[in-house]
Amino acid sequence: MKISVAEQAGFCFGVKRALKLITEYHRQNKKIQTFGPLIHNTPVLNDLAARGIGQVSNPAKIGKGSTLCIRTHGIPRDVEHRLKRRRVPILDATCPLVKKGQKIIERLGRGGGRVLIVGDPDHPEIVAARSYARNVKIVDSLAAARALPRCGEASVVAQTTLNTAFFKEVVAVLMDRCEKLHVFNTVCRATQERQEAVRKLAPRVDAIVVVGSKISSNTKKLVHIAREKNRNTLQIETCADLRDRRTAARLRKFRSIGISAGASTSPQELNNVKKFLQKL
Ligand code: SF4
Repeated sequence: MKISVAEQAGFCFGVKRALKLITEYHRQNKKIQTFGPLIHNTPVLNDLAARGIGQVSNPAKIGKGSTLCIRTHGIPRDVEHRLKRRRVPILDATCPLVKKGQKIIERLGRGGGRVLIVGDPDHPEIVAARSYARNVKIVDSLAAARALPRCGEASVVAQTTLNTAFFKEVVAVLMDRCEKLHVFNTVCRATQERQEAVRKLAPRVDAIVVVGSKISSNTKKLVHIAREKNRNTLQIETCADLRDRRTAARLRKFRSIGISAGASTSPQELNNVKKFLQKL
């Protein structure tokens, strides 16, 4: 069986940076907890927990003497202000590319313009991003874009992990709804590269395995793109999911399998999956 790994897969720059920041901080024997999951990947979070880096869902519950680490997706502006007022020590691991989006929204908001954000309204990145301006509307589907009232001028930004093809489709609809539309393609490069790589690989193999958490936005997009090109697409969280007898039997029938992985999947996990498939 031939196993091919997508040209771009696994840990992105923002995730590597966040893990480096928190690991170095913790190594200095400083107590630290993350505000929500640092990234969307269970094995990595379990590893952090085993090293004594836990998470709190409510910043009021931060342990005494502990620093609060802001996750890669960022936090709402008002929550950050409250933490600073309470003088809670903060380690900010927000991805710089997420921050860039926040700054664009803030600037557009200051100008008083209407800001449209294309993304998932419940995703932590968007929950945070929308706090940076008042006149914000989240657009999560083509139907939502079509339902927007016609307007004179607006700006549109994207969730960093959005499917780029979907963003283009939404923008095309919005062009028709707004007289003047300023487009900020804030889909990050890591996302674009991973999407391009899976788009290229999926039609060339008999089946494709996407490694990443079920709650990881960028992994979900990779699965969606892979499925459009190859109906034998399987999403797994860890290599352990492949040990299921039925799954293994299904995969054994293929002559070639491609592997892709979300931006929060570690190189070790990716390697475990590759080795497992090679032995099938
Ligand atoms: S996917 Fe992009 S925006 Fe998100 S953490 Fe990685 S580099 Fe940053």
